[in-house]
Amino acid sequence: MTWESLELPLLTHRIGGSAVPSPSEARLDLIDPCTGNSYGAAPIASANTVDNAVNAARKALADPAWADIPPLAREALMHKLADALEADMDYLASLEAMDTGRPIGITKAVDVPGAVAWLRTYAGWPSKIFGSERKLASTPGEFHAFVRKEPVGVVAAVTPWNFPLILSMWKIAPALAAGCSVVLKPAPETPMSILRLADLAAEVGFPPGVINVVLGDGAVTGKLLVEHPGVAKVAFTGSTATGQRILAASVPSLKKVTLELGGKSPNIIFPDADLPAAIAQSAASCFFNSGQVCYAGTRLYVHKDLYEAVIMGLQEHAEQAAIGPSWNAECSMGPLISQAQYDKVTAMVERAEAVGIKSVPLTHKLPEQGFYFPPTVLRDVDGSSEIAREEIFGPVLSVIPFESEQEVVAMANDSEYGLAAHVWTKDLGIAHRMSKALEAGTVFVNCVLLADPAMPFGGYKKSGLGRENGPEALEAYLQTKSVVMALP
Ligand code: NAD
Repeated sequence: MTWESLELPLLTHRIGGSAVPSPSEARLDLIDPCTGNSYGAAPIASANTVDNAVNAARKALADPAWADIPPLAREALMHKLADALEADMDYLASLEAMDTGRPIGITKAVDVPGAVAWLRTYAGWPSKIFGSERKLASTPGEFHAFVRKEPVGVVAAVTPWNFPLILSMWKIAPALAAGCSVVLKPAPETPMSILRLADLAAEVGFPPGVINVVLGDGAVTGKLLVEHPGVAKVAFTGSTATGQRILAASVPSLKKVTLELGGKSPNIIFPDADLPAAIAQSAASCFFNSGQVCYAGTRLYVHKDLYEAVIMGLQEHAEQAAIGPSWNAECSMGPLISQAQYDKVTAMVERAEAVGIKSVPLTHKLPEQGFYFPPTVLRDVDGSSEIAREEIFGPVLSVIPFESEQEVVAMANDSEYGLAAHVWTKDLGIAHRMSKALEAGTVFVNCVLLADPAMPFGGYKKSGLGRENGPEALEAYLQTKSVVMALP
């Protein structure tokens, strides 16, 4: 089986609740990462298309069907969309698997349920967003003073290719809860699940223009969208370099910006750790989705007393990876997203080997076609080397020995990034000291890969700006207005 018989959503923009063909626009090929073959071509939205999408979103903001919808009715609509996603599980999971190369068993277990969980969590908010009355603190006289919470306006959501549906929902769900409208630009490699989401939103009754999708690349469409004067807020997930460009582009109009960016997350195994769990989960943290996870634990610090045992355990786990195509539900690991990503990961590993870094021997037989890269364990990695410092976005684990708590904190924090950090210990003292000392937006103790709609997610340092998820995310989609009325 391949995806050849899968019927695809119409490969064009969704604006104002409809599919909008754009025959004159340039096109980008969609490539199946498991075969390297093209399965379609998507348009690159021009200035005119982006303009139309932002205008449709602005119109929706003023449409009483959206602006004046009672909070409970907005919640019900969001739950209706979540119901539709659940009912569409097989199709959505297949589209996500085909686009990303991630095995279908995973897109069914993670991607669709994850998107639903986020949507349902934020569907609980509309009836709980309200302002407050204030007593003026330093002004004598009679006043009625209060604070209103309003939707910030049109949100430009720009997302990467690794988890298209989930990471889009991290933006759409709080935006809808706050009463905003959205223009979403998915990564050019992975538009399918987002097009399906937009179609389902129209089917369940979202007013036209509340959720729009423009297809295209970053250099043309993404840039046009984030610079558009009609956009009030940009919610971005992607690389640090692109995030920096977006932040700079937002300066002239001072748009609100949240950025979820890259990472090089440390993972520390202390001598008292539950070793089998630590080894299995450390391997999973780096190899899940072929390492294409922003908070993958790619720098593994192991106490010297456990070092050889951990290396052996990692070798066993890496050997067990069931590598194969996205349509095979038995597989645990698919290919990298593209030839470009394959070339980047290969070149980084070759440069590491050229400076004397050794890989642990593994014997994977990879499929002949497609962008497959084997799980790779590099041992005794020098913390100052490129492979230990730069984000790789591939299944490559750098293992580094340490002796003391103080030393490992210094090594873990010696990074431009600060997205996540992981600690393996049974000692509550170590767990608390590490939670405080590690410079990261999330510290996982005795667990990995747990993103949850209740927990704020974001980065220290060059890993981002602001937070997604949790109630913290809602503020980014709300404007705060103070009203002061002098009473006669
Ligand atoms: P990317 O930055 O190249 O692209 C991300 C999105 O931005 C795409 O939709 C792209 O078309 C668009 N884009 C590119 N240039 C743009 C511009 N100038 N203006 C507006 N939009 C533009 O990233 P990628 O290669 O798609 O994804 C991989 C990166 O994403 C990795 O660095 C990874 O760490 C990061 N990521 C971060 C998180 C997180 O939550 N922190 C999650 C997933 C991925």
